[in-house]
Amino acid sequence: MQTEVVLGIGGNKGDRSSYLARAREALSREVMLISSSQVYETEAWGGVAENGSFLNQVLLVHTSLEPLALLKLTQAIELALGRTRDQHWGDRTIDIDILYFGDQVCSSSSLTIPHPYLTQRSFVLQPLAEILPKKIHPILRKTTLELLAECTDQGQISVWKQAK
Ligand code: ADP
Ligand code: MG
Repeated sequence: MQTEVVLGIGGNKGDRSSYLARAREALSREVMLISSSQVYETEAWGGVAENGSFLNQVLLVHTSLEPLALLKLTQAIELALGRTRDQHWGDRTIDIDILYFGDQVCSSSSLTIPHPYLTQRSFVLQPLAEILPKKIHPILRKTTLELLAECTDQGQISVWKQAK
């Protein structure tokens, strides 16, 4: 059975767009890439990163993997692309977050779905609104557009360039 999964990818270290491309490439070897938002540039979030602004993108994929198997895959790709896990919210070459996993809701020590910070981050909601404006958050029962309208994130965000 294929599940519709939404991933958020981003990074602020090194050749940012090339890391996004390499992440998409690595993911598409294991899951079916259905659509992708444009790439957005945002100020660093959380006040920890020193390397400057992030590039972020949201991907819609189909997969037969279970949630934890998908998390294992995304973490393996992060590692392969040089991500070190020293600083939470710090500089990173690539971060891959599972935003939605179908309409599943789960919360364990290693995985929370929907992603807990989804509603607080305009750099997630903005690209998400581009590809899934009407997707309903399974807990809050609100569409992406409604969540975006309510989001108070003040971070500067702009379209960086058309995704390849
Ligand atoms: P963040 O993405 O919040 O900046 P990290 O990428 O360092 O932070 O993630 C920290 C931990 O978050 C990971 O070890 C992972 O187990 C956990 N996690 C919980 N829910 C999710 C999710 N939906 N997607 C990705 N990671 C998650
Ligand atoms: Mg992450």
